[in-house]
Amino acid sequence: MSISQRMRRYIAPAFVLALLILSGCASAQTAKNSAPASADRLKVVATNSIVGDVVAQVGGDAIELTVLIKPGVDPHGYEATPRDAAALADADVLFVNGFGLEEALKSLIDSARAEGKLVVALSEGVPPLSLSSNEGAVDPHTWTDPNNVIIWVNHIEQTLSRLDPNNAEAYADRAEDYRRQLSELDAWIREQTGKIPEPNRKIVSDHAIFGYYARQYGFEQYAITGGFSSLAEPSAQQLAQLEDQIRRLGVPAVFVGNTVNPALAQRVAQDTGAQLYVVYTGSLSKPDGPAGAYLDYMRYNTNTFVRGLSGS
Ligand SMILES: [Zn+2]
Repeated sequence: MSISQRMRRYIAPAFVLALLILSGCASAQTAKNSAPASADRLKVVATNSIVGDVVAQVGGDAIELTVLIKPGVDPHGYEATPRDAAALADADVLFVNGFGLEEALKSLIDSARAEGKLVVALSEGVPPLSLSSNEGAVDPHTWTDPNNVIIWVNHIEQTLSRLDPNNAEAYADRAEDYRRQLSELDAWIREQTGKIPEPNRKIVSDHAIFGYYARQYGFEQYAITGGFSSLAEPSAQQLAQLEDQIRRLGVPAVFVGNTVNPALAQRVAQDTGAQLYVVYTGSLSKPDGPAGAYLDYMRYNTNTFVRGLSGS
């Protein structure tokens, strides 16, 4: 338990008591019957909506969660705001994807670490993928394989239980339940993608985001930007080569993510005669959208691959 947590435990009751005295009898009655004050809950920050959803699945009501990068915003290019820094200063733990995904948040994360803040990189322990053309760089999009998200869940469960042992049993129960749902998702994806004929098992996307998915479910991956980051830009020659390849292979579909400018993918689809499909990549949809939670996000993308690649 951190010093700030211990302090909060002691300070909180005194603070609530002061409030009760100040606010009189009527509200004192309400306060006595309500849930524990939010000051008692673990304060958790997650970098993006995908990390945030998985953390929320394990943490439930026991944590107070802040997500820095909102749905629809590209995680590679996102830069911290003063509000993010304030949320982080107040947090007990920061969960990040890691593997270099949060490039533009690097200085925020590094300085949080330097100040002794607990930073947990969820992808630590995932067998990393790299590109032969992109030596040294590791594919950060680990969540596209739900088996890797089971590793995330283990990190989250261990971290929350250590920081907040009073709720360890609840964290363990929720983690166990979510791991089961992730295993079911894995089996469902295998079954669905099994319908796609062998010559069509090729995912062309705006940047190289589906590497772990491709490795797990038997696809080849082609990236329009040529790299792991949405911030990279292909040369005219690279683009022409990719379009040649798409034509030669007869790839029927190009997939573009929800957090990038679709112009380049639109052009490749147009030039090659492939159909363009929108998938969710660097973030979930808004909560009431079709991919508002990680499990829905994976089902949505898988259904879109099956639709785009099943035709002859
Ligand atoms: Zn990406």
